[in-house]
Amino acid sequence: MTDSFYDILKRCLQFIPWERELQPTLSASNVSMVLHEPSILAGYRLPNQRWLYYVKSLFQLHNETLNVWTHLIGALLIVHRLHIYSGEYDYLTDPHSWPVLAFGICSIMCDFTSSCVHLFHSKSPYIHYIAFMVDYIGATIYSFGSGMLLYYVQSDPHLYNIFGHWFLAIIAIVTVLNFLVLCGAKVYYGEDPSNLKRKYFFLGAMAFEFFTCSIPVVPRFIYCVQNDEDWASTAVECIVMTMFLFFLQSLAFSAHQPEKTWPGKFDIIGHGHQIFHILTVLTQMYQLGTAHYFNMQGLSSHTQPDLIMILITIHLIIATDVMILWILRTYVSKCLSKLQ
Ligand SMILES: [Zn+2]
Repeated sequence: MTDSFYDILKRCLQFIPWERELQPTLSASNVSMVLHEPSILAGYRLPNQRWLYYVKSLFQLHNETLNVWTHLIGALLIVHRLHIYSGEYDYLTDPHSWPVLAFGICSIMCDFTSSCVHLFHSKSPYIHYIAFMVDYIGATIYSFGSGMLLYYVQSDPHLYNIFGHWFLAIIAIVTVLNFLVLCGAKVYYGEDPSNLKRKYFFLGAMAFEFFTCSIPVVPRFIYCVQNDEDWASTAVECIVMTMFLFFLQSLAFSAHQPEKTWPGKFDIIGHGHQIFHILTVLTQMYQLGTAHYFNMQGLSSHTQPDLIMILITIHLIIATDVMILWILRTYVSKCLSKLQ
């Protein structure tokens, strides 16, 4: 007799190494300062364990558990949303579905690398540095995806005709520069997780990319504000809401609240980085919804997205980022030896 769905699900759940007891974790004073999170006083996993220890920690409670799960669930939500859209678009032949598909892939990459980074970075200070530089590859690929989506879906027709496909190259260069600044700031200021200069570099580089990507949208936004039609006011709403969500993300990322006001009370659940992750996923879902709305209203009909060109550009950015990471890894060792 064949097994029912519930029998198979039960066997799968039994296979997962659920921990029924809390595993011992350390206070901040017992781990290297490099691994500290600002105002998180406890719940740190043990460093220098086997890789399997960190894999199993996915099912245990510590100060990274929710950081891992929020982005894992986020990646699954994006996959689900792309699947729903497959009923409305033909991803093989409809050029206006390609920016949506490519943005979804960029978001999934960002969320998945972030989950892996939060799962494994506590192994050692060296792994911590390398892991967060991998996280920056995911974060900047998401920024590139956002810029590409804005350009092919919401750009002003006149500016689109001026820039053509060249704007993709401009965003790609800004993305790589953004990655370089994030990694440089991490290597230079990474030994002190509370260093404000690193945050300023991070926010400055991200904001620069955001404003560069927004240039082709500005004239259209002004046109929509001055226009009384229904689609124009919805378009204004979508653009303002997306900007507001980005603002909330940067606030949650930099403020470290509520743990800064009540240190030790939000070590496991509710700290600012978890809120930042949830806001990232909400923004990604909202960006997908907005792009879908613009496509359905025919507001992106002036653009001619090229899937092959978009995918080649993403691959080139990743290859350049990996090369930069490979070069910078030698500075990580030097930086850590200075610390010792
Ligand atoms: Zn994170």
